[in-house]
Amino acid sequence: MQIAIGLLLAATSSILAYRVHSLSKDGAVAATFIGTIIFGLGGWQWAVLLLVFFISSSLLTRAFKNRKMELDEKYSKGGRRDAGQVFSNGGIAALFVLLHVFFPQSIWAWTGFAAALAAVNADTWATELGVLNPNPPRLITDLSKRVEKGTSGAISVYGTCAALLGAGVIGIPAVILFPNRSVSLFILVALSGLLGSLIDSLLGATVQAIYFCPTDKKETERHPLHTCGTPTIQIRGWKWLNNDWVNVACGASGAVIPLLAAILQH
Ligand SMILES: [Zn+2]
Repeated sequence: MQIAIGLLLAATSSILAYRVHSLSKDGAVAATFIGTIIFGLGGWQWAVLLLVFFISSSLLTRAFKNRKMELDEKYSKGGRRDAGQVFSNGGIAALFVLLHVFFPQSIWAWTGFAAALAAVNADTWATELGVLNPNPPRLITDLSKRVEKGTSGAISVYGTCAALLGAGVIGIPAVILFPNRSVSLFILVALSGLLGSLIDSLLGATVQAIYFCPTDKKETERHPLHTCGTPTIQIRGWKWLNNDWVNVACGASGAVIPLLAAILQH
């Protein structure tokens, strides 16, 4: 029964998101799938966290659109989230809902779920708000090096604060909706989210597949074609490690941190 309600609610919100151009068609199908698992197997508390992530990140993607136009050519995808983005952002969280089904008494399933969402939310907030920073960011692997805005692996104080805020926004409902409320749960979720997003940047600066557009003479995540239509050439990273896989790693590393903390305490 709960799965049927989950399917209904997930399908309704996905169709709405598709109508307002926040999701592509396959993105809406993927979001219905992820939403059904999370609501159907977790319950409304789990769905609230997913919605906080989805609504806040979609709104931020839309906000300040004009100021972000010039950066669109750098990112692998536009504002409409496709199935790859939906699965890469929500997949690890959905995995923790499945773990919760097998270990219903455990705290760590909820903590891992919240931390995974905090990490992908932190990453989205850092990307969407970080570009408004008037100063060029620095490369996470070489902080003395200033790079162009939107470069994979670029960080700034501004973007890092945005990441912490994004993680905190997930941390608040994660504490409120959990029966055993504590400040340490909030800190754990927020910090795990921040660390997850920094790992995302680290992968972006090192092993993520990055391309080059010979026409514009610019680095980009876009492949096989740049926004201008020119085929892009790979210049570094592992070919298979695209932005979606980096997002999976971001969520996974966010979720692993509270698990490690729990193991170390015992
Ligand atoms: Zn180009």
